[in-house]
Amino acid sequence: MISEKMMGLGKKRSVIREIFEYGNKRRQEIGAENVFDFSLGNPSIPAPEFVNETMKRLITEKDSVALHGYTSAQGALPVRQAISDHINKRFSIGATPDLLYMTCGAAASLTITLNALINSGDEVIVLAPFFPEYRVFAEKAGAEIKVVKCRENDLQIDFTALENALTKNTKAIIVNSPNNPSGVVLSEDTIKELAELLNKKSAEFGTDIYIIADEPYRELVYGDVEVPYIPSYYNNTVVCYSYSKSLSLPGERIGYIFVSPRLENCTDVYAAVCGAGRALGFVCAPSLLQYTVAECLGLTGDISVYEKNRNILYNALTEYGYTAAKPDGAFYLFIKSPEADANAFCERAKKYELLLVPGDDFGFPGYVRISYCVSTEMIEKSLPSFLKLIKEYR
Ligand code: PLP
Repeated sequence: MISEKMMGLGKKRSVIREIFEYGNKRRQEIGAENVFDFSLGNPSIPAPEFVNETMKRLITEKDSVALHGYTSAQGALPVRQAISDHINKRFSIGATPDLLYMTCGAAASLTITLNALINSGDEVIVLAPFFPEYRVFAEKAGAEIKVVKCRENDLQIDFTALENALTKNTKAIIVNSPNNPSGVVLSEDTIKELAELLNKKSAEFGTDIYIIADEPYRELVYGDVEVPYIPSYYNNTVVCYSYSKSLSLPGERIGYIFVSPRLENCTDVYAAVCGAGRALGFVCAPSLLQYTVAECLGLTGDISVYEKNRNILYNALTEYGYTAAKPDGAFYLFIKSPEADANAFCERAKKYELLLVPGDDFGFPGYVRISYCVSTEMIEKSLPSFLKLIKEYR
């Protein structure tokens, strides 16, 4: 008998993948230029040229055996040193290489961190709307998921709901800002209030409650918006970072876990991270990528493209009568469905070749995700379809 649960996960395609496959069919039938596919969160801007140059240079100049060989399980020391120096330069937090663990992207960072923290029966809080894989990762680690919905008007944390959800079994809360699927950045006031509440509740329960800060979109913010660095506000924080979106390298699988030095038992938590990495077989992240990102710290692709897309889409859609919390980051817009059933709305959108993702899987029914990491030309061409679609509801 094999694992029914794993077989189920393998057989069930995500809603996003279903829509993408439908898009492939339509692209063949009517031509790619006529399909407005807003389903995937795949960066549409190229990696900075310096990333490619660095890779080429490493391949031609670095000793090949060393470059392609195993690094330490937690990542090459010079790489971890460079990243911790970079973190300190930006956030003055006292990062050290022995609190950093290199991973294959945020997915691995999250999986390892959850396995490091969770004992069976522990609860993990996720704030809806949330990245659907949190449920898969947390449940596999043995946790019970508790969903707390954000406030509908601005998608900041609903502290009354959160306080009610916290129990002595709460081990962690996953915080994702800028957020997938909404693009919303949690404000400094929100993070301060969150830290205060978690400190109060940990003291009351006599437990440790960790924030797992999932930050693949940290660098993708527009205008003068600042994303508060959670370890600066709350001691029990583990950061899960990825270069997938900031450097447009999602297929290369590279990121890291950073255990805050302000965490009281940080060396034990880091040991548990190393242990979970070992138990899951997530040791020694791809070495070429480790050495590459260490030389590209602080770089991003040309994110002005995303900002332009956001402005065009947000301004046009709100003018047409759609409502959405303004996204300050990432490359997603989360609009309220004009009918209660977002699935029905997304089906109707297909009539206009608009491929949108219903919010149900993000724990937020009645809303719809639009990924605007697509060409600006496609966005401009799609606007009349969005207008025709909402006119059906007038
Ligand atoms: N967390 C969030 C919120 C995401 O949106 C994604 C990917 O889209 C991930 C984690 C996984 O990122 P990675 O490709 O680095 O594994």
